[in-house]
Order: sequence, then structure tokens, then C-alpha cells
Amino acid sequence: MLEPEVESRPWDEQLALDDESYRDQLSYLLERSPFYGDKLGLASAAEAGGLADVGSLPLTEKAELKATTTPDNPVGAHLCASPSEIVRIYSTSGTTGTPSYVPLTAEDVESWVTGSARSYGASGVGPGQTIVSTYDAGPFVAGAALTAFERIGLRHVPVGTGNTDRLLLAIELLRPDAVVLSPSYAAHLGDVPADRGVDLRASSVGHVLVAGEPGGGEPEFRALLEEGWGARVTEAMGIGDIGPSLWGECEQQEGMHLGARGFVHAELIDPETEAALPLGDGASGELVLTHLRHRAAPLLRFRTRDHVEVRTSPCACGRTGPRVRCVGRTDDMLVVRGVNVFPSAVRDVVAAFAPEVSGHVLVRPAAPGVKQEPPLPVSVELARDRPGDEALADAIRDRLRSVLVVETRVELVPWGTLQRSEYKSKLVER
Ligand SMILES: [Zn+2]
Repeated sequence: MLEPEVESRPWDEQLALDDESYRDQLSYLLERSPFYGDKLGLASAAEAGGLADVGSLPLTEKAELKATTTPDNPVGAHLCASPSEIVRIYSTSGTTGTPSYVPLTAEDVESWVTGSARSYGASGVGPGQTIVSTYDAGPFVAGAALTAFERIGLRHVPVGTGNTDRLLLAIELLRPDAVVLSPSYAAHLGDVPADRGVDLRASSVGHVLVAGEPGGGEPEFRALLEEGWGARVTEAMGIGDIGPSLWGECEQQEGMHLGARGFVHAELIDPETEAALPLGDGASGELVLTHLRHRAAPLLRFRTRDHVEVRTSPCACGRTGPRVRCVGRTDDMLVVRGVNVFPSAVRDVVAAFAPEVSGHVLVRPAAPGVKQEPPLPVSVELARDRPGDEALADAIRDRLRSVLVVETRVELVPWGTLQRSEYKSKLVER
């Protein structure tokens, strides 16, 4: 562990410390945040109680923040710091128009790096090892996580996004112990190098760290990645508005630990009713996050749209606190005759059919919107040189029905048909 005294602290002690931070953060918000001043309508921070009562405060939606931007304040009314205190401004990749800006003070940058270092450190990489990263230190929040590799003591080789040749060459010549990339890209590379005379299974890479999209921790899909790389695969997760790689999985592979403990508080809600759910073992729902010690533009009860499953059983690594696995984005979810279906879960079920399939899938909903009538059309790509047949399509359809309780129409497509991604994959096509 990078910081054993922090990461193995009994969880109730962590919550007691977080309670103090939270009360201070609330006072700070009331004093400095026009957005929360209006939204909370509190006469004093004390009125809101402590961290145990946070569920009684309103949720924050990304669109609400966006609606408060003006030509004079392109960040939004949740900006608390003066321009002289801001040292960096990231963007989050919005789906439309102007990005959302995420400002940071020097103290915020430090918290982000500390949390990310703990999260990535959990994967088992350590001082003296070499890691190759494929994220660009560009405008997006993920770039901030790169500094965490130096904090861990790793030798960091940034090769950037979108250059497979450079990545494969770095693996061959620099013999890294680890690589960090998106799960889609990891899957893509798992079946590309045969073309180029590279055997990833025989490479020096023993740790594949995946982040940037859900699904890397799903058992069958993970098994496919581990087979392709001959390496252990662990995942990490953050959310642009709150921080990069807040969560990181350890070598036990049983969900991600909160590396950003002390900086961020996690809650669970029912995404439909918005009711708070207990963070108990086996619980699932949407992750809601609250900054505890943020300065530039702290957020309270921010809806992440990440749908997670929770584990609270003790972890053999010694890290304490709840762990999460992200099963999908609430935004990607389809409802097929009353049943919630995440495209990444479809991909996971299909991955169990390797080596017949490549692991690439595309869900093609027939109707606009979330609600769909069965059968749900799913394209499944065959592995290289595998012909596939009716029996395979039937077996995949049956497995999807029994695991996800969804009727599908499975279309098998030849290897190389579905689009590959060097960052986030598109699992749904309308
Ligand atoms: Zn662990």
C-alpha cells in the first residue's frame, strides 16, 4: 500500500474524519458558492447536520451546473475560488457544444494526484517498475492521473492515444511491467498483434490497468483480456467533475477500493426514485459523490450516472471500506420489457463464448429512447477464422436470456466488422 495508515484505517474512523471534513466543506460552500447558497437555502452549515445526514440534501445534476454558466463565468455558479487561486482548468468531454470546465487549486491538484496514486498503486504496480500509458496529458481530467505514476515511483512511458505501433514498439523495446489503457483498447490489442508478429502473451507486461469506461471488471470480459495479454487485469474509475481514478482495484479483483478516501464521500441512490440506498454488501444503484476537501468548485451529492454494485466484505489486501464494480452508465441503460440491460453486461455474457467470438459486440436498439420491445438486436463479432453457425447464435441468445433475462436477436458478423476503439468503445448504435 502506498499509504498503509490511511488505506487500512478502520472504516468507522475514516467516516469520523470525513464527517469533520464534510462540515468544514459545507461551511465553505455556504460562504463561497453562489450555486449551493441558492440551492441549499440553509441559514447555517450546522442546520444540515453531519455526513450521516447528507442524504437529506438535494442531488446535483451536471445539467444544473451547466445552466449557470455565463459569458463572465464559463465554469458555473459553483465556482468558489478566485482566479488567483486557480492553477489548472480541465475540460470534460461534453456530448454537445461547449465542454464543462473543471478548475483546480494547487491543493485540489495535490488531492487528485494522491487519490489516483493510491488507486493505481492498489493494482500491484510499485516503485522501480515501468508503466506505459496511452492517455494524453491533454485537456481532459484523465491527464491529471498521469502524475500519479511518478508519485508511486514508477518509470512512466507516455505513448499517447491513437498510436498502436508506438505502443507495441514501447512494449517490445522498453519491456514495461504494466500498461494503462481503456478496456476496449485492451480488447482490441488482444487480437491485433498476431498480424504484426507481436506476441503480447510473451511480453514483459504483467499488469494491465484498465480505466475510462465500464466493463473492465466484468468476469468473462476480464478473462478474455487476461487471456489475450497473459497478464492480470485490474480496473480503475473516476468521474471528470469529481476527480480522475478515484477508485482502483487491488490484485484480489473483487471490486475497486476508494483511493480518494478522505477527499470524496460515496453514496448510492436508486436512479429512478433518487432515494438513498444503504451502501451494504451486494447493494446496487447509481453512485453519488460529494467532495470533502475541495476548493475550486466543490460538488455536493453529484450524480455520476455510474451504476455500481457494492461489496463490503473484508478484502485480503487489507484496504478497508466499501468496494464498487461499475456495471454500466445509467445513460447507456436500455429497458427491455421492464428489465434493465447494460450494453457492457451484454458484452460480458458474449465474452464467455471465446475463442469462438472476438469480444466485440454492438447493441442495435430498434426504437428511439430507453424502452425497447424484445427481441433486442445484438451484433456479435466472430473471432478470426471462426465461421460461426446457427447453433452458436442460438447458444449466445439462450445465455443472454438466462443471465440477463432479456430476449435478443443475435446476428453473427465476421471478424473485423465492428469498429475498434483506441479509447471508449461504442457499444450501442441507434
Ligand atoms: Zn483489496
